[in-house]
Amino acid sequence: MNRRAIVAANWKMNGGLALVSTMVSELNKVTLNDNVAVVVCPSFPYLAAFSQASSALNLSTSIQLGAQNLNENAQGAFTGEVSTAMLQEVGVSYVIVGHSERRSIYNESSELVAEKVAAALNAGLTPILCIGESESERANEQTEQVLAAQLQPVIERVGIEKFTDVVIAYEPVWAIGTGKTASPEMAQETHQFIREYIAKIDESIAVKVPLLYGGSVNAKNCEQLFAQADIDGGLIGGASLKAEEFNVICSAA
Ligand code: PEP
Repeated sequence: MNRRAIVAANWKMNGGLALVSTMVSELNKVTLNDNVAVVVCPSFPYLAAFSQASSALNLSTSIQLGAQNLNENAQGAFTGEVSTAMLQEVGVSYVIVGHSERRSIYNESSELVAEKVAAALNAGLTPILCIGESESERANEQTEQVLAAQLQPVIERVGIEKFTDVVIAYEPVWAIGTGKTASPEMAQETHQFIREYIAKIDESIAVKVPLLYGGSVNAKNCEQLFAQADIDGGLIGGASLKAEEFNVICSAA
């Protein structure tokens, strides 16, 4: 099965206008394999600037804009929040949902994550749904249980048939920003579990869902990770702030 491959950059609360301009001109030089999309997710204030800089350079349509979060409501008295319509007005087509930092620092439950995925899908945005276990959960052999508990509320909320428009990012929490990457074999084993979990509900959907690996991916380890059968690209944090290194990762997908 020739699935879509995706490399997404999560800048988190880093970067600014200078990085927008460097990244757009570097991405203009990147050579991507067929069927690969690159999604850059800067902070909210820089989305419009990224969009404008991409249009000015006529950047490839394979390079898309993503947000790092959204509010599940359409509009109203939600101070500090951003809606799907606002994101779309500035050119966003993907949105990261349920990143482990949002789950742990901002107490986002899997039920709220499911509402956000539903809001994104209803608006026509592609959610990048993040799931992953903590170090102690892996040590206690609870990884599969944790991933299932994060996936199931989303499946129940939106329906499995909608997963043709969902991207899943498996991000072991212990590997995020730590320099400790899951070995390609360990990552593959967990990706296979995720695909099989979906396949038990609907096999035809499972073969289509892009599964990204995230957690200390860099220019040195990306090739081996992306070579695994069930790894269809990556969600990249730290290394996505370095334009040249990010280009190497994009070219490896
Ligand atoms: C992330 O935050 O999604 C991430 C994968 O970060 P890093 O690549 O820095 O581990």
